[in-house]
Amino acid sequence: MGLFDKKVTCSVCGGKAKKNYEELKDGILCKKCLKNVSPWFSFEPETTLEQVRGNMELKEQMKAEEAAFPRDLKFGEGLQKLYIDKAQRRFMITDLLGHNPDIYSLDAIKSCELKTREGLLNTDQEMRTSLKREYLYTFQVVMTMDDPYVKQIPFEFKAKPVITGPTRLNDEVLEKAKDRSETTAGSIVNILSGLSQKTIDTIEANTAEGEAIIAELSAY
Ligand SMILES: [Zn+2]
Repeated sequence: MGLFDKKVTCSVCGGKAKKNYEELKDGILCKKCLKNVSPWFSFEPETTLEQVRGNMELKEQMKAEEAAFPRDLKFGEGLQKLYIDKAQRRFMITDLLGHNPDIYSLDAIKSCELKTREGLLNTDQEMRTSLKREYLYTFQVVMTMDDPYVKQIPFEFKAKPVITGPTRLNDEVLEKAKDRSETTAGSIVNILSGLSQKTIDTIEANTAEGEAIIAELSAY
């Protein structure tokens, strides 16, 4: 066996790992055990095994609560979903593939902001031979958390790519999508921040206005 085949031992399960493991300050976490940790766990060079075990214990509790979590208020048009439990003021959010959900109190959110990510879809060949450009935009609500393990949770509520023409800044399609996303993000941010108890009350009251809010949000 060569140098590159060097195996390490996972500090949690004792299994052997060769790649895709996480190096902790005082141990190793294998790929399999990583699945029992929050998808948004903030790994840092100083992260200890004790911290990881602490998060794993919390994840066990979250797993036990997952099945009974209310699903009537749901956001996200892609695989990633966000559910809000109005009565207990909690939220549940899955990873980008719709798995491994975390559950937190709404009060654990320190702040929320809308982030737009821009990517260029063209190949190198197209860049050389054509002026046509396609940009892809994804819209996220990024929650900054007051939590010992997780610092930020990005929620990609609009998963469908927005593809524009050759121009970037003055493109009508993009501007419209941005406007819409900002409105939706604003509603999500209000609900998540717990600032808008009024919005939650409106939804709960089953009024036409509340239905309009749900319709608007579920369009994304
Ligand atoms: Zn392991």
